[in-house]
Amino acid sequence: ADIPTAAISRLVTYLRILEQLETQDVSRTSSNDLAERAQVSAFQVRKDLAYFGRFGTRGMGYTVPILKRELVRVLGLNRTWSVVIVGMGRLGQAIANYPGASDYRFQYVGLFDVNPQIVGQQIRDLRVQHTEQLRDFVSATPVDMGFLAVPPDRAQDAAQALVDAGVRGILNFAPVVIQPRTTERGGVSEPGEEWRNVTIENVDFLAGMKRLAFYILNPTLKAALTE
Ligand code: NAD
Repeated sequence: ADIPTAAISRLVTYLRILEQLETQDVSRTSSNDLAERAQVSAFQVRKDLAYFGRFGTRGMGYTVPILKRELVRVLGLNRTWSVVIVGMGRLGQAIANYPGASDYRFQYVGLFDVNPQIVGQQIRDLRVQHTEQLRDFVSATPVDMGFLAVPPDRAQDAAQALVDAGVRGILNFAPVVIQPRTTERGGVSEPGEEWRNVTIENVDFLAGMKRLAFYILNPTLKAALTE
């Protein structure tokens, strides 16, 4: 079945709720309880979980540590993910210095920039390298994800450099839509081979602010949309 991206966002929310319940020593929950805490319907919770298996017992709800463990597995958070950050300006440095990622076995293995004043700097336990070294670095150290924190007009080229180096997942913080490089084949243009199976996730807090402005002006629309 095609799983809507919103369902994956909700799984992440359910996991956060389960972690919270666990710290409060709550051992059982239900789709009604999860629904209330996540501000969605119980039907939605059951449907989202059903994409991935049967995790509860009818009428008995869910065991918190078991459902948590299963969601961790479904999301792939039970393994280590190697991450590089490309662009070590304000945002890149803030991300590298934020300790939360290591809770989930996301590990920063490389930091890259092009500015000679930044290249060579030590940030936590890593020394910032020049982006020219990205390719060699990735061929020696497997990298699962790249975070793009370069200026918007640099994002396309930096994304291509990541993909050329073999990185298949990009978290893009730059406010631009990354386009796969296209090639001509038999008169048709298609994405370059290196873009096969590449996933890009965009993070944009300004976009969130713009949506928020709209919803504050149109509160009734927001209610209608979340039904
Ligand atoms: P910044 O100017 O402080 O840092 C950008 C860094 O990228 C600089 O150090 C620069 O030398 C480096 N750079 C340029 N080209 C590069 C390349 N090819 N390879 C590696 N590094 C390169 O900018 P910032 O404030 O940190 O913002 C970074 C990006 O994030 C911008 O695109 C900005 O719009 C965006 N941003 C997004 C969010 C969000 O919520 N998604 C929030 C803040 C900023």
